[in-house]
Amino acid sequence: MVGVNSPCGQFQSLRAPISVMTLRIGIDLGGTKTEIIALDARGAVLERRREPTPSGDYAAAVALIARMVKRAEVQVGQRGTVGVATPGSLSPATGLLRNSNSVAFNGKPLKQDLERALGREVRLANDANCFALSEARDGAARGAPTVFGVILGTGVGGGIVIDGRVLEGVNAIGGEWGHNPMPWPQDDERPGPPCYCGKRGCIETFLSGPGLALDHAARYGETLSAEEVVERAAVGDAAAQNTLARYEARLARALATAINVIDPDVIVLGGGLSNVERLYAGVPRLWRQWIFSDVVRTRLARNAHGDSSGVRGAAYL
Ligand SMILES: [Zn+2]
Repeated sequence: MVGVNSPCGQFQSLRAPISVMTLRIGIDLGGTKTEIIALDARGAVLERRREPTPSGDYAAAVALIARMVKRAEVQVGQRGTVGVATPGSLSPATGLLRNSNSVAFNGKPLKQDLERALGREVRLANDANCFALSEARDGAARGAPTVFGVILGTGVGGGIVIDGRVLEGVNAIGGEWGHNPMPWPQDDERPGPPCYCGKRGCIETFLSGPGLALDHAARYGETLSAEEVVERAAVGDAAAQNTLARYEARLARALATAINVIDPDVIVLGGGLSNVERLYAGVPRLWRQWIFSDVVRTRLARNAHGDSSGVRGAAYL
């Protein structure tokens, strides 16, 4: 096994033996920001910091992570274990990163380079898997048998946790939902926007932050960020509200297919767009029509750990 992902699902077995280093450091290497968190043995936050991700520059991203870890350790006065949540995953065949929406990082030996920069073992796992596990353990889906965690951010990812364990999958792509096509597409959604993965009309091209911004620009000729669309909708801007209504309907369709396959107790949303309040009432109202069941007991929940859920999961690697 060459450099396969350290599966989030094996946290439990890794927890007990680590007694020498009680400091746990987690990094969330996001498309736009990189976050670090340092937790003590009881899970209390000792240090937290965010920096912009140098997303087009792999070497700079590795250097940034190394710098952030060293600074956190100086602050806390202790050396720690390091876990990194990243978009995409390490290929089970090559050990190189693949499937990352930060495409400059694909094909790179991220695990080895970080280990060299930090002089210790570094555990890497998919960010959505870390997010789902963190929320299933002590977050919004605590105690639920089957959890689907979804990140709606710069990219769109998913992770499945069953009875407290991540469903990693034989190809290490368990829960990867964002690169399926948008289901029940309307005529103006075909063939859909081009995706970095080489296909068109992927769920991610509609439901990521940049996807929402592109949809708004295409419809209204107004170039706004996803955050700006959300802000304008909140103060009554009709165009922005329409864009969010389209987003909500698409999310309902896309999650309905996940429910039809996984049938989870809880779906937890993370990423910047999980802060859109209207989704939590609107999406379950809309998804019923697409779900192959007379009852729908699946709960749609906002994450409990905010934007920091993925980084918490990483710390426990
Ligand atoms: Zn795609």
